[in-house]
Amino acid sequence: MITEIEPNFYRITLRMPYRLRHVNAYLIAHGKELALFDTGLNMPQAYETLIQDLSDIGFRVKDIKHIYLTHVHTDHCSMAGLLQKESGAEIHLSRAAFEEYQHFRQTNPTVQQLKKFYSRQGMTAQLIDLVIEEYEDIRGIIAEFSADNFLSDKEDCAFGNWKFEVIFTPGHAAGHVSFFFPEKCFLLSGDHILPYIAPILSPNIFDDDFRSLTAYLDSLSAIERLPVGAIYPGHGNSFVDVSERLSDIRQHHQKRKLAVLDHINTQSKTTYEISQEMVSPTLSDFDRFLSLNETLTYLKELKAEGVIREDDINNVLAYSGA
Ligand SMILES: [Zn+2]
Repeated sequence: MITEIEPNFYRITLRMPYRLRHVNAYLIAHGKELALFDTGLNMPQAYETLIQDLSDIGFRVKDIKHIYLTHVHTDHCSMAGLLQKESGAEIHLSRAAFEEYQHFRQTNPTVQQLKKFYSRQGMTAQLIDLVIEEYEDIRGIIAEFSADNFLSDKEDCAFGNWKFEVIFTPGHAAGHVSFFFPEKCFLLSGDHILPYIAPILSPNIFDDDFRSLTAYLDSLSAIERLPVGAIYPGHGNSFVDVSERLSDIRQHHQKRKLAVLDHINTQSKTTYEISQEMVSPTLSDFDRFLSLNETLTYLKELKAEGVIREDDINNVLAYSGA
């Protein structure tokens, strides 16, 4: 479904078989040319919808000259390769996002790293196999693409009369960027700021020192410094109560961090064990994996704050009160 937000600025909503059900791509037009922000999931149905949506406003895929990606999660980027093949569009993304994309393409080293990383968190072999299966699925969905340009933080970009600024917003994904349109005061936020849920934060399995929550909260502050009037997110409707939303998200993380701290005592426990204590036994395996990532996010912060200690016991990390 395509919606005109204002002349030459559109939202395209594409279905996907994941929990959030829909993903938004945004389109700006200048004369006969288009710039697309995120692409939707690489599925025949989403592709057909996109073709129809473009045709409804008098365009074709080959009119897409530029594709800007907020990050390389499948629901945002996986159709980029297909669209680039058909249109010759230039693809712009951050260097960190492209590195993440390349990890998806290097099966063996990434699978080895996944095993190493998650066994250090005390995860069961069965759950690690499930994570690898998920990873293989993702790998199969993302169409191969080449990067034409690496975006820089605070870079000024222009497409016809449209001017926008690249804002690095790591946290939800290490290479995440948002796009701010200063003349219009709106922000294309990708998955950095969503209207109803606090975006998932994941560890960087290649960088033990990456603290996704610290990065994420710094990225919220970077947005707060801008005169943002409206946010156009990757999922859900646009909204204008920006500072209220940022304060809700900050409170959410503070509460969750304290909930993890409640499970820390003198007994050494792995991330997996702590996360198991925090979820219902009927939760699906995939949700258990998400819960482990979430728990790990807060453990890293609590460790950096000096309130808990981390011990390496035979290559498995265990946490206890400091
Ligand atoms: Zn995402």
